[in-house]
Amino acid sequence: MKKIMAVNAGSSSLKFKLVAMPEEKYIAEGIFERIGSKDAVFKICLVLENGEKKELKKETMAIKNHAQAVSILLEDLVNLNIVKELNEITGVGHRIVHGGEYFDKSALVDEEVLEKIESLCDLAPLHNPAHLIGIRAFMAVLPDTPSVVVFDTAFHQTMESVAYMYALPYAWYEKYRVRKYGFHGTSHDYVSKRAAVLHKKDVKDLKIVTLHLGNGASLCAVKNGKCVDTSMGLTPLGGIPMGTRSGDIDPAVVEFISTKEKLTAKEIVNILNKGSGYLGISGISNDSRDMEAGIKRGDARCRLALDLQYKRIADFIGSYYVYMGGIDIIVFTAGIGENSKRCRRKIMERLAVLGVKINTEANENSEGETLISANDSNIAVYVIPTNEEIMIARDTMTLINN
Ligand code: AMP
Repeated sequence: MKKIMAVNAGSSSLKFKLVAMPEEKYIAEGIFERIGSKDAVFKICLVLENGEKKELKKETMAIKNHAQAVSILLEDLVNLNIVKELNEITGVGHRIVHGGEYFDKSALVDEEVLEKIESLCDLAPLHNPAHLIGIRAFMAVLPDTPSVVVFDTAFHQTMESVAYMYALPYAWYEKYRVRKYGFHGTSHDYVSKRAAVLHKKDVKDLKIVTLHLGNGASLCAVKNGKCVDTSMGLTPLGGIPMGTRSGDIDPAVVEFISTKEKLTAKEIVNILNKGSGYLGISGISNDSRDMEAGIKRGDARCRLALDLQYKRIADFIGSYYVYMGGIDIIVFTAGIGENSKRCRRKIMERLAVLGVKINTEANENSEGETLISANDSNIAVYVIPTNEEIMIARDTMTLINN
């Protein structure tokens, strides 16, 4: 058995899962939050045979930086008897948000790979710098353990130019690679392949639309196993409205608000990223559960926040239906897609015109991987829990073995 550490480093957080391979079983998982502060929180759980989690430690402590977080984590893996020795960890796989046009698949980390990720920091200023800090922190403490990078953008690199180009001056693409990249690729890749397995067909014979609906949310059109279109853009701000992000808007809004509110483009984009979506419309929260609770109280803006998003999701599905020449399967995944029955029901109702029919009982009681469309539905609709860490562990194993 090999043990692979799957890592997702954010600007002040670091999530990890230790995975036994090739069994694909979780051994332990945890998170550091508020790294860089005096009251950082570190939590680590053991994953039991039945999948339940047993909390081994939850501590608030001062943690200066990611390097210190990684040292604490590796020490505790031994102290808490999760591994006997650190050399049991055969590889570390890192999730990277932006791989630009450089990476259409995962890569073993070397200096050249790190330089390329660094050069993409402009395109993903909220994410790539944090990932680099995470990679370097692990390399410092485990210098002999290979690291692999798995990109959110890689799965979308199969899009054709008609799907990924913006109708902007071509020189902006030539000089700065301004185009659509798409994100959540690891999740779209995983759930589309699982959908084909559940549907007992080869993914190469299917047209699938995957809906990754979490705090960040995107759609992907997968034809014959390859991404042909996706909703997010140059950055994860594009596409459908999300928890705090606007999704696509008329770009003229930026100059208009800049004049009215005396804000810079950077300040406005920050509001499009962090103060829009559910939060912007409702004025209450970025959490879909709060929107659903608000609707029960009769809050019209909570209702509008969700309706706006569901309409845009249905619009995208309609456009993918035309672009792919039909849809065989739709998949709901991520926090909202996996948990909100109301969200799934409301979106499926909007898709009735395509012959989508819900199996209400299956939708209400879905647990794990579930078919939630009726037998006579034109399109099969599944809920499939996403599993990005397993994809990271798989790619890490493959690249290390090679
Ligand atoms: P993620 O980014 O994938 O972790 O998803 C976070 C989103 O999932 C948040 O908007 C949560 O409100 C939402 N979510 C989690 N559980 C539920 C639930 N039971 N019902 C509705 N939304 C949920």
